[in-house]
Amino acid sequence: MYHPIQPPEGSIEWMKEMVKKNEGRKLTDQEAHEAAYNYLNFFNMLIYLDKKQHPMKRLYLDIDGVLLTKQGVPALHIVEFLKFATSNFDCYWLTTHCDGDATTAFLYLVGKLPPDAVQFLEKVKPTKWKLWKPEGIDFSSDFFWLDDYAFDGDRKLLEENQASEKLITIDLQSNPNQLLDLVSQWQK
Ligand SMILES: [Mg+2]
Repeated sequence: MYHPIQPPEGSIEWMKEMVKKNEGRKLTDQEAHEAAYNYLNFFNMLIYLDKKQHPMKRLYLDIDGVLLTKQGVPALHIVEFLKFATSNFDCYWLTTHCDGDATTAFLYLVGKLPPDAVQFLEKVKPTKWKLWKPEGIDFSSDFFWLDDYAFDGDRKLLEENQASEKLITIDLQSNPNQLLDLVSQWQK
């Protein structure tokens, strides 16, 4: 459901100036507030409807072996990858470093990744799973899952949900540029 937002102070002043400039008329505070409210919510509603009709695909992210190499250093092109991923996908942690709270994953990564990456980490949401990672996946929405290793139990859960092809296996050892390759592939 759409929830209208209140116009910030600046937008009310902006509305007054715009009407004065274009129509030579001075709006009262009440009129300017209503005009700014309608204007803002009209466009906000369009964005809301568009998002609802075209929901972003979910991207579930493992950390070790995906964002960090097995040696614990950042994967190549990590900032570019995170920037692209968090602006084009609805991103979720799917890692042993997150159990229902994104803070643990954030704190694990924050000292290891370049400072430029931090703003993007904040956009990744938590998941909760117990035995197998796909327990944390919402199978009702489309997704990709990036991991360096899936156990038989993980694969079985994917199969049961007709989602085996959603797993993208990351192998930074054989292709250190795999994250960048993914971005290029997704950009097409
Ligand atoms: Mg891993």
